[in-house]
Amino acid sequence: MESELHITTFRDLLYYFPYKHIDRTRLYYIHELTADMPFVQVRGEILSFEEEGTGRKRRLIAHFTDGRGILDLVWFQVGAFKWIKKSYLTGKPYIVFGRPTVFNGRINIAHPDIDPADTLQLEQLGLQPYYNTTERMKKAGMNSRSIERFTSTLFQKAGELQLPETLPESIIRRLLLVPLGQSLHDLHYPNSADALRRATYRQKFEELFFIQLNILRYARLRQQQVHGHVFASIGPLFHSFYSDYLPFQLTNAQKRVIKEMRKDMGSGKQMNRLLQGDVGSGKTLVALMTMLIALDNGYQACLMAPTEILAEQHYATFQEMLREMPIHVELLTGSIKGKKKRTPILEGTRTGEVQILIGTHAVLEDNVEFNRLGLIVIDEQHRFGVAQRARLWKKNEIPPHVLVMTATPIPRTLAMTLYGDLDVSVIDELPPGRKPIETRHFWEERSESLYRGIRAEIAKGRQVYVVYPLIQESEKMDLQDLENGYEQWCRTFPDLQISKVHGQMKSSEKDAEMDKFVRGETQILIATTVIEVGVNVPNASVMVIQNAERFGLAQLHQLRGRVGRGADQSYCILVTKYQLSQETKKRIQIMCETNDGFEIAEADLKFRGPGDLEGTQQSGMAFDLHIANIARDGQLVQLARDTANSILDEDPTQTLPENAGMWRRLRELNKNAIDWSNIS
Ligand code: ADP
Ligand code: MG
Repeated sequence: MESELHITTFRDLLYYFPYKHIDRTRLYYIHELTADMPFVQVRGEILSFEEEGTGRKRRLIAHFTDGRGILDLVWFQVGAFKWIKKSYLTGKPYIVFGRPTVFNGRINIAHPDIDPADTLQLEQLGLQPYYNTTERMKKAGMNSRSIERFTSTLFQKAGELQLPETLPESIIRRLLLVPLGQSLHDLHYPNSADALRRATYRQKFEELFFIQLNILRYARLRQQQVHGHVFASIGPLFHSFYSDYLPFQLTNAQKRVIKEMRKDMGSGKQMNRLLQGDVGSGKTLVALMTMLIALDNGYQACLMAPTEILAEQHYATFQEMLREMPIHVELLTGSIKGKKKRTPILEGTRTGEVQILIGTHAVLEDNVEFNRLGLIVIDEQHRFGVAQRARLWKKNEIPPHVLVMTATPIPRTLAMTLYGDLDVSVIDELPPGRKPIETRHFWEERSESLYRGIRAEIAKGRQVYVVYPLIQESEKMDLQDLENGYEQWCRTFPDLQISKVHGQMKSSEKDAEMDKFVRGETQILIATTVIEVGVNVPNASVMVIQNAERFGLAQLHQLRGRVGRGADQSYCILVTKYQLSQETKKRIQIMCETNDGFEIAEADLKFRGPGDLEGTQQSGMAFDLHIANIARDGQLVQLARDTANSILDEDPTQTLPENAGMWRRLRELNKNAIDWSNIS
């Protein structure tokens, strides 16, 4: 149990909340039961036992009646038949509890809980907790009931188990919260649905509150204590780029965010800014121009991308945009190997000769030393929370300015939780002349008209992406899908040139294939989601997503953002199998209806639930959430943030005695949180 659920102390057990409660005060009549009911209980007696079936279908049946109907209780563990028949007597009143199903037209309950009716105190059972258990625990005989035995024992002793309150009295009073001890008790053993609701509210609030307190405390500390490099002026590099090299007008939104950043970087404070902008809104260009300001002031800049492909693409984009400007840009990724290649880059970075270093996480390694790092840009990164960013400080006495760019539109509540310590700039305008992408849904069986459409686009000189899902667990099978798909496309378009890119290829092969597509030598690019972020080929006007049912909304939107970058009408084609779940149908429908990234992000968070986001490891969130849910508890996030802010106003030095318990709890949480500085 310990290793499975990380329950190692009484406290962990107290905080291992049931996922639901079942009202054990209610009795049903057998004639009321239907197969779609959750758990029910019935009072009655066993008429007779009977064994049916042979081999693996062998089962023991007890015919059970409440005088108004008959119900079959069924067991399949042959070894237990004898014991069951001996333990439960015919004609004696029992209360039977379980989940009803229908088999052969009769109502059944398989493996019911049976208690003698005269000993079971239903009023006392009240709302019974149900706990999650893992497969392995089930195999070891641990189930929800065993956990219930632990927790009920714990609460019988809870009189002695005085837990210090973790929230200040003032908050508890102001927000009418239940005290800690009571809320923990009620989360497991509530006396009423209302008590459960109030206990849940308090715990949700508390979880979100400590995340906000942590993030805001950190932000204030930084504002007070941390100085930033002062970029006093805009110099020749910025000006020359702006007037001689920029091939188009900046959008107003781009101008505005560059101004916002200039102000930060000139202020003497450290810039910590989140730049949000939908795919294709021109964030990369903004990053480049911000970096030129750093260079103009005699500093180096660094751009960190989440994947090698993206880092390489940025490197290429920068080289193309900067053309013969006298700026030394280098690329450092894991696949740049060998002393001969790495040493000059590392050396140049150390001496300051390398002015812009572009790379993956490799740029955070200890052997990468900068001479005067003034600005670090973190691109397309949704896993770079407070703790990870804190790590950047250690590299320098005065930390560099930090710009985090994200295209995955983050719902406000999540942004507050992940990036709540950052100032936010938004590019809310696309470069002019872009036509909205048209999204259509195709069944995979009906590919003829799809192929016709694609041929027409290619005849116009356009290029086409075809994406296949690649999901870790079944990587081999997925790769097979892609290979089969590739052959299919080659057979369908024997006259065209087709590239293929996936994660299992060597970096050099990948690059070669990508390059061919970027240069327009191939018309179709068959790929896995390696192209999800950042890839930029304005001439590509069609994005075909195979097995679209297997992608989440955010991912579909990212992929779609690879097209629609030129002036031509672009298309996104979602290809799915015929049988789709309700939820998938909705996803596809939303994609076909809107191009608005924020709308999609909100919908995505609601659909997927928080599962994919909430682990600290995945999300960059400081502490795990056990009970609060960023998607559903949006209003509480705001309340938690406001409350944390007012506490920090009232107690800036963290010395008010009434807040002592709260600060202690925050320290504990931070101690238990993963130490990111040890993980790379
Ligand atoms: P993002 O990183 O936000 O997804 P990019 O920076 O890759 O977007 O820009 C997408 C495309 O739009 C690129 O080809 C870029 O050169 C172009 N672009 C950026 N800003 C403008 C602008 N103001 N006018 C026209 N095109 C632009
Ligand atoms: Mg980008």
